[in-house]
Amino acid sequence: MILTGKTISPGLARGVTRVIDARGMLEAALSVAPAGTQQGEVERLHAAIGRAGVELDRLQRQLAVRLDAGDVAIFESHAGLLRDPKFIGRVEHEIRAASRSAEAAVSRVVSELRAAFLANPAPLLHDKAADILDIGRRLLRCLSASLQPDVVLEHGSVVIAPALTPSQLVRYVHHGIVAVVTETCGPKSHTAILARGLGIPLITGIPSVCELIPQGTEAIVDAATASIAFNLSDEERSAFQAAFQQQVAAITDEEETPAEAAVTDDGVQIRVLLNISDAVEAHEIDRLGADGVGLFRTEFAYMDRDWWPTEEEIYASYRIVSDLLGNRELNIRLVDFGAEKCPPYSDIPLGRNPSLGLRGIRLLLQREDIMLPQVRAVARLARERPVTLLLPMLDTLDTLEATIERVCRAVGCASREQFPFRLGAMIEVPSAALQAGEILPRVDSLSIGLNDLTQYLLAADRDDEFVERYHDAMQPAVLRLLGQVVAAATAAGKPLTICGELAGDPKLTGLLLALGIRRLSVARSSYRGVVNSVRRLSLRSMEGIGAEIASQSTAAAVRKYVSERFR
Ligand code: PEP
Ligand code: MG
Repeated sequence: MILTGKTISPGLARGVTRVIDARGMLEAALSVAPAGTQQGEVERLHAAIGRAGVELDRLQRQLAVRLDAGDVAIFESHAGLLRDPKFIGRVEHEIRAASRSAEAAVSRVVSELRAAFLANPAPLLHDKAADILDIGRRLLRCLSASLQPDVVLEHGSVVIAPALTPSQLVRYVHHGIVAVVTETCGPKSHTAILARGLGIPLITGIPSVCELIPQGTEAIVDAATASIAFNLSDEERSAFQAAFQQQVAAITDEEETPAEAAVTDDGVQIRVLLNISDAVEAHEIDRLGADGVGLFRTEFAYMDRDWWPTEEEIYASYRIVSDLLGNRELNIRLVDFGAEKCPPYSDIPLGRNPSLGLRGIRLLLQREDIMLPQVRAVARLARERPVTLLLPMLDTLDTLEATIERVCRAVGCASREQFPFRLGAMIEVPSAALQAGEILPRVDSLSIGLNDLTQYLLAADRDDEFVERYHDAMQPAVLRLLGQVVAAATAAGKPLTICGELAGDPKLTGLLLALGIRRLSVARSSYRGVVNSVRRLSLRSMEGIGAEIASQSTAAAVRKYVSERFR
């Protein structure tokens, strides 16, 4: 039996399925303690019901275009149950009478209702049991992004789940999983970025995947065909074996081919660095010949733990990366927590619209307990080797000044000039991009986070597959803003690096060089392709191309121009 979806992360793997459905989440929710008063928990419950309702309405509208009326009606009935005063009354009662958290109360009521539906012989009520479980999962996700089922995974598991948060993926990878198949996963989401960085094949876009694939069965995930095969035949097994051997041989060939320098055809050196999320990704830096780490996404090291790391632990983990790099460049980003990136033990509040809420540097300014140990650990490393500290999601000069003042206090400096590390600003929010000229005198470098910059400029959630086509960095508005930031950095004579998924697309290397970018930070899997592109390009022949690209009016026109100009 074969199911086909969409590839998010490449690779081929065979393993045993581990289906992680909503029941695990209900169990995890039972042990969540109340965050505040009973009234506070009731208010959290109502905020989550509101959010879940908005999600369901949206799903209903979007699916109405793709599915028939019967399928869409399922979401109507979910929305009805979610707003049912009896259901809400029971959950509120659990919060007030038993002093439970909203999560624990939802979990109890959902489990009780589900058991009652299942105990009834009428098949219609069995459907209701599945519906109530789905509502429970949605409500719990709206209550807490960091809530995760507490599962123990076997080495070699193929994880099957409705969706995975980045922290789940990190933990599961540490358990030795070999592949992931989900119902949903945005291609530019952090889960996608992590899967690609950690070399885990990930297929998405298979509705009801947890119901379709049995627990504990042998399965093959093949990203080349975006498929998962289970109930395997002997032919499928031997085809896998042959393809797997080919994959291993290709990797060995690649390992034996010496790394080439990232120099254009007319002799200009381009710096190609790596984006990493985990120390293991730095192991290959030498073999690849990369110029260093352009972006260390440090927040993922907090995910597979039970509690916040100490300054000593943070320092020790950066030391490992530093040793692997030798004297290559190292840019460490302060943790970019918030939205879907929160450690499971954290008490970071999830706002009504998490991408616009407390995240990145804004969150850190309110949470010295998280910020100071990390800043001090980086300062310690910086006394041993050059390091740049990157500020995630910088929005305004006010925030930058508040941050500099806080860092001064943390490391005992009177001014920024005395910092032991260089300071870099991530340009991911349009307001910061517009003020790049004023930010530059206060920092040593800029790093463009194009995933977020595109999201905020075009008002298109990078994690939301329903607006995937609107999250398009080829839009002239994005490229023009990018051009402005590059011009500001060039005028100031300060380094500018582009991070974000687009930097790793070899078909777009010419476009980025034409826009004046000379430093690219890319995922491990994109490194060789980008270097090969650099080597084929000549900067001399690019005169005026940046301006021509920026003068196009639509993304389609940009694409056409780029594909004709950089064949
Ligand atoms: C970006 O936003 O482009 C970026 C590099 O940061 P992240 O993907 O970690 O949000
Ligand atoms: Mg970002």
